[in-house]
Amino acid sequence: MTQLSGKSIIASRRGASDIGPIHAINPATGERLCPTYYSASLQEVDEAAQLAGKAFSFYSLTCGKQRAAFLRRIAENIESLGDELVTQATQETALPPARIKTETARTCHQLRLFAALVEDGSWVDARIDRADPNRQPFPKPDVRSMLQPLGPIVVFCASNFPLAFSVAGGDTASALAAGNPVIVKAHHAHPGTAELVGLAVSRAARECDLPAGVFSLLFGPGREVGRQLITHPLIKAGGFTGSRLGGQALIKLASSRPEPIPFYAEMSSVNPIFILPSALCEKSEAIAKGLHASVTLGAGQFCTNPGLVFIPQDRSEKLLDRLSELMATTAPFTMLTPGICSAYREGAEKLRHNPRVELIAAQKVNETGNCLAGAALFQTDAIAFLEDQSLCAEVFGPSTLLIKYASREQLIDCARSLEGQLTATIHADEEELKNSRDLIAILQTKAGRLVFNGFPTGVEVGHAMVHGGSFPATSDGRSTSVGTRAALRFTRSVCYQDWPDEALPEELKNANPLHIWRMIDGQMTNASLSDKL
Ligand code: NAP
Repeated sequence: MTQLSGKSIIASRRGASDIGPIHAINPATGERLCPTYYSASLQEVDEAAQLAGKAFSFYSLTCGKQRAAFLRRIAENIESLGDELVTQATQETALPPARIKTETARTCHQLRLFAALVEDGSWVDARIDRADPNRQPFPKPDVRSMLQPLGPIVVFCASNFPLAFSVAGGDTASALAAGNPVIVKAHHAHPGTAELVGLAVSRAARECDLPAGVFSLLFGPGREVGRQLITHPLIKAGGFTGSRLGGQALIKLASSRPEPIPFYAEMSSVNPIFILPSALCEKSEAIAKGLHASVTLGAGQFCTNPGLVFIPQDRSEKLLDRLSELMATTAPFTMLTPGICSAYREGAEKLRHNPRVELIAAQKVNETGNCLAGAALFQTDAIAFLEDQSLCAEVFGPSTLLIKYASREQLIDCARSLEGQLTATIHADEEELKNSRDLIAILQTKAGRLVFNGFPTGVEVGHAMVHGGSFPATSDGRSTSVGTRAALRFTRSVCYQDWPDEALPEELKNANPLHIWRMIDGQMTNASLSDKL
């Protein structure tokens, strides 16, 4: 069993500050958990950033094989934690052990996926435009470019994914894969889980002979430690999943620094579902069941939770009856933190008191625990929805709002009125889909992922996945935080003009020693430059 210390991990040493104290609580029992955690001091934040800056000059030059070995070792070290990690994370989040095990597997899969990506090496988008000394009126230079890492990255752990979007989660894996040191700011809700995983990462750095500054884990409040990190001159980018308020505060800090830096924040999304008339007639039972499962999965604490469902007004009775029955008989949930639970209750209360919204099913909750919340189903109509912007707000938890539309025009107006989303879903038959070009064209401008005849919860981790979307789903809709494309967020393109071959990065050398795919004079090839001639 690991002896948790409650102190930050600053490269190879443990923090010494006694600022705090911070206590995790068990959301299921309200019990205070041990040990007591202490916030990193300003000096410790600076030390972590300085060491990360130093580590960058070594780590950014490591080859894909070295980084892959590091990422795989992290995965192995996390797996070796076994039940200890499951017990700790379950206590701190009230998420069931089976969910923690699945999330651990996903976390390790992500790490290995990025390992394979950087080992293969072609992801760096190497391009070569060969010189032409005889070109008129001026000779053409030899120009070669590729992606290069940015520098130390700050990652904020997410409350709702203690593993897959936390210490060794997607942001950390993608930043390390791209050649950047990482400093993680732990979430106050699961510090013990963070410490266990943090120790696994720093052990992996040691085992792979990497400079210790490649990874640090800091505890402490976002408004202090988080802000100090994001405004530190050596930090070059940040990744975040959380509230819109928190995300926007950090985006503002990142962009108003003397040297502004990219800050990738995933904030709020209501993941609209559009159900078209024939699809509803054909499969209302399947839609009711699927929707109920998706809305209540993980107590609704998923960024892809479907919060708005547009249904045809005149064919919705069967769906409403079945969905109401399912929602009303759902057992109450223990939510992740008292803060998240009270924000959910507040959001649901606001809807309940809105005169144009009707509560059609709710699970009564016996107020015995401070994190207990019940599922809730609301309905309104398209006119009310279009007139009241507040109905678009994310209610983070197991509830959804059904919006009845009376015409195709109303449906299109509703789609147009939406903010940016992580996902948008259409339920339609073949004919309806063919006739939905207008709806699809609107949704493509808003959402990162369009789902057909399915449900948005459950994000596949792969090469093609896009987990992003226009603001406020994310701060930069051109990027993704899930899937191998996420590594691109922590890079910039650098080009080398008329550079001697021996001084070029391996990826751009004439002989193509890494055998990667490159674009030479506009054509993709894995040949060397001499083969190409
Ligand atoms: P949060 O309050 O935004 O916190 C996330 C992280 O950001 C924490 O580390 C927090 O520090 C830090 N932070 C928050 N505000 C900050 C500020 N003004 N300056 C600097 N750092 C700041 O999110 P949460 O705790 O996960 O949950 C709160 C609400 O966020 C939920 O009720 C839900 O509405 C929303 N949420 C949405 C998603 C989504 O994917 N859409 C996911 C999770 C949460 P501390 O450790 O000091 O709190």
